[in-house]
Amino acid sequence: MLLKDMPEDVRSRIIPKPQSLDSMVYRCIECDEEYPIQDLLYTCPKDGKLLDVVNLSFEKLKRTDPEKWKRIFDFRKILNDPSIKNNQALHGIFRFYEFVLPVLSLDDIIYLGEADTPLTKANDFMEKYVGVLFYVKNDGLEPSVSFKDRGMASAVSFLNALYNKRKVSGFLGICASTGDTSASAAIYLSYLNHKEGIKSAVLLPQGKVTPAQLSQPLGAGAKVIELPGVFDDCMKVVEELAENYDVALLNSKNGLRVLGQKTYTYEIAEKFGYDMENKAIVVPVGNAGNITAILNGFIDFYEIGLIGELPKIVGVQSENADPIVSWVETGVYEPFDVKKPSTAQAAYIGKPVSFPRVYELTKKYRGYGGKLYAVRVSEQEIMDNMLTANQHGHTVCTQGGEAIAGLKKAVEKCFVENFETAIVDSTSHQIKFAGFQDVYFKDGLREYGVIPREDLINMPTLVDITISTEEKKRNKDIKKVAGEIAKVLDLKLK
Ligand SMILES: *Cc1c(COP(=O)(O)O)cnc(C)c1O
Ligand SMILES: [Zn+2]
Repeated sequence: MLLKDMPEDVRSRIIPKPQSLDSMVYRCIECDEEYPIQDLLYTCPKDGKLLDVVNLSFEKLKRTDPEKWKRIFDFRKILNDPSIKNNQALHGIFRFYEFVLPVLSLDDIIYLGEADTPLTKANDFMEKYVGVLFYVKNDGLEPSVSFKDRGMASAVSFLNALYNKRKVSGFLGICASTGDTSASAAIYLSYLNHKEGIKSAVLLPQGKVTPAQLSQPLGAGAKVIELPGVFDDCMKVVEELAENYDVALLNSKNGLRVLGQKTYTYEIAEKFGYDMENKAIVVPVGNAGNITAILNGFIDFYEIGLIGELPKIVGVQSENADPIVSWVETGVYEPFDVKKPSTAQAAYIGKPVSFPRVYELTKKYRGYGGKLYAVRVSEQEIMDNMLTANQHGHTVCTQGGEAIAGLKKAVEKCFVENFETAIVDSTSHQIKFAGFQDVYFKDGLREYGVIPREDLINMPTLVDITISTEEKKRNKDIKKVAGEIAKVLDLKLK
């Protein structure tokens, strides 16, 4: 729809008007000290604690009626107006512009097709199997094939804005990654590759990302550095670099990432008619950036009055990397060095950087009457649930399998009840982690403690007959092959 054809009550609000840069600040989660947003800080210079990015004008958003907000979000979705430069930028996370990063101009926004991902209802089999009606929100359908694109779109767009406003003359975007953050960072930064002084580098634990994940930053032209060890080691090194060198950190430690990732919750609220009563959101937890954003996002909409109730949040972790689950269960937080491996490799983190944010936000969430649960699942459950879901119309990765296994367990524990509706966060796509499926089928996951279930194994059947290129022989061969396939498939003659 063209802007001029939009209803009058929202028309002037569709194209956002940027607030001034100083209307947003970094705020220390410990001492509340504030710092200018263009300073690109990741920790408080006073006490080294995490910084949130805060919109000082957030209260003003309450002046707009919730019903009007809904219409603004809706109409931005159908805005297609070639007379407005980069108007497609309002189709991604910036459909919720005022709740994300309301200091950017349309021109600064990098839109690669992220966000607005589908919600798929689980079929009758899966509903019975898990024990509750549930939907999968498929964030595997993002440009880099993981949910990380939401936060990368906000963080890299902001860097682009600083560059365009000549607040910086260039930057090196850098991150540590279990695979997906680096893919996303490299792809968003590659959009700026032609700009003088903008560079991209990623740090990966050698051998602990999948071949598909490794191919992404390489393909995007980023400098890829591998280190022996695990993600937690890479994170420490990149933190050291961010403290002492002139780099732009793109891990979720960077509060700008959280802003974009919140839109996952806005879309869920929207898809359920802003009715979050009797809903539960199930999310795999690694570095805890995603669950931070999920808590934050629902709190935003609750405070504005867009939703009247907070959904339950269920965090899921593998029993081999479960510091957050232990904290929820015992109240004691003990980060540790991960040892036994996990197939949910992208969430395989023993020292989640965003834990202090989760701690603070959980207090706030509970203060508003919201509930947070956490469950741990076995490696066997992760793999079996991934394969089961994918045999019923889904395309989840190992972390998605982890989340579905977690939902099943949450139902068993009555954290989620049978009259409720669950929404499972499918954080990336099956394809990125196809290697784990392959190794499961070949019984190669014993070191993970996984024994393949006979009924879930699926291997190709070779019909070993070469079809001749000679005309006469060819027809005979084709008949022979067809006959052989008919036997394999148990087909009856017509
Ligand atoms: C990053 C990632 C996670 C974990 O998210 P955190 O924000 O680190 O908790 C889960 N699944 C996938 C596919 C990921 O890439
Ligand atoms: Zn501080």
